[in-house]
Amino acid sequence: VHDNPALASALCEPGATYAVYILEEGHDGLRPPGGASRWWLHHALEALHARLAPLTGGLILKRGSSHTILPQLAEALGVTSIHWNRRYEGPAIELDSSLKSALQDKGLSVKSHNAALLHEPWTVATKTGGPYKVFTPFARACREKGTPDQPMGVPESADTSVINAASGLTLDALELLPRRPDWAGGIKEAWTPGEDGALTALDRFVEGPLARYHEERDIPGKRSTSRLSPHLRFGEISPRLCWHRVETADVPRKAVDKFHSELLWREFSYHLLFHNPDLGTQNFQPRFDAFAWAEPDPETLKRWHFGLTGYPIVDAGMRELWQTGWMHNRVRMVVGSFLVKNLLIDWRHGEDWFWDTLVDADPASNTASWQWIAGSGADAAPYFRIFNPILQGERFDPDGDYVRRFVPELATLPARFIHKPWEADAATLHRAGVRLGETYPRPIIDHGVARDRALAAYADLP
Ligand code: FAD
Repeated sequence: VHDNPALASALCEPGATYAVYILEEGHDGLRPPGGASRWWLHHALEALHARLAPLTGGLILKRGSSHTILPQLAEALGVTSIHWNRRYEGPAIELDSSLKSALQDKGLSVKSHNAALLHEPWTVATKTGGPYKVFTPFARACREKGTPDQPMGVPESADTSVINAASGLTLDALELLPRRPDWAGGIKEAWTPGEDGALTALDRFVEGPLARYHEERDIPGKRSTSRLSPHLRFGEISPRLCWHRVETADVPRKAVDKFHSELLWREFSYHLLFHNPDLGTQNFQPRFDAFAWAEPDPETLKRWHFGLTGYPIVDAGMRELWQTGWMHNRVRMVVGSFLVKNLLIDWRHGEDWFWDTLVDADPASNTASWQWIAGSGADAAPYFRIFNPILQGERFDPDGDYVRRFVPELATLPARFIHKPWEADAATLHRAGVRLGETYPRPIIDHGVARDRALAAYADLP
């Protein structure tokens, strides 16, 4: 509701304002949301309905084709003017533009706005007018454009007395929540979807971890990052608000710059997606089309999904994801590298699992990040950078706090073995109650062997 240009503009129009959400599934090319996103969406809509009550009398919910629903609704409500905030995935852009033309043909005024990004993709271009393919010059160009616009505030309450509840669906009719079994218990405990939850998360971050963000953001055992990603993903908080709010905090400049830089990675992902609408399915670098991915064995994939690979940092990450719908960024890189480089499984399998299980599953950041990890993306990690899951664990989770939290069967192992339990002697394992191969798996693959295999496969690329 804050910094929402479509809403603010609609409220400036004469007459009553109605807010509508259409769950549109099955449209050509529109990717259906994953399970965790559907859960979030349900609660986000519930929260939005409440926030909109004093402004528009709430939210009208619909399900189906926007091409059919919007004109009907406009006619029924006597609406002459429609506003929305823009989307940037290829199929959504096509849908929204054709919808705009169809509504305009019916005599309606339609205006779209930017709520989601600091800099829309076409506003940042190289000297020759093309898109950026490397992050650093992209980020420099964004910074050279000057400070992003200040966020708009929350619009004043409107007179909603004339608004009766226009016929919409109940939230339950959208069928967004999991059917039995309800797997969302851990997600519910970890998150508060909605604008209030988002603003509280920003406050908590600015007043706490922000001051050490530049030093601690890579430590998964600490609550050192903002956890704003699902809120940003669902438009519950404005990136402009995040950008400016950290500016005003009394913290080291390095912390602010680092946080701004992460917001710009999000912008870069959208820049890439806008200019490469197939980013989620096609290698950004076509030479990777010839890469010899291993045929994924379902059992191996399952062990990766559920955190049973025998590498504690990987297993902790995959279990954090399954339990809470989120994973720390450093660990996302480690588990991703493990899938594509140690197991030689096509990045699209990893992207798919993240799409289904992340509450922040984002069409731009998820695809751009997976391609970055695989080496097939823009400005990607070089193919020879193969994260060593033991060293990554020892460096970023030295006492094993993170592993102990998510892999409780290893909780009492001494720190020096926590990332390589197979090196512990029998007495140490016994004291910690660990029976390798029984209470905790042995490594699914030897890292050294996997590394050599990956390097050989990557060396064969044209
Ligand atoms: P903070 O460190 O507090 O950063 C603030 C904000 O900046 C984040 O909320 C996010 O919007 C943005 N951001 C931070 N890092 C990145 C990044 N590397 N790329 C793009 N934006 C970034 N992020 C998503 O929002 N959705 C995804 O689906 C997603 N999938 C990913 C998949 C892989 C394999 C990897 C390696 C990274 C992925 N990321 C994704 C990026 C990053 O991991 C998350 O944005 C971050 O962990 C969110 O936590 P936070 O909000 O505490 O981040």
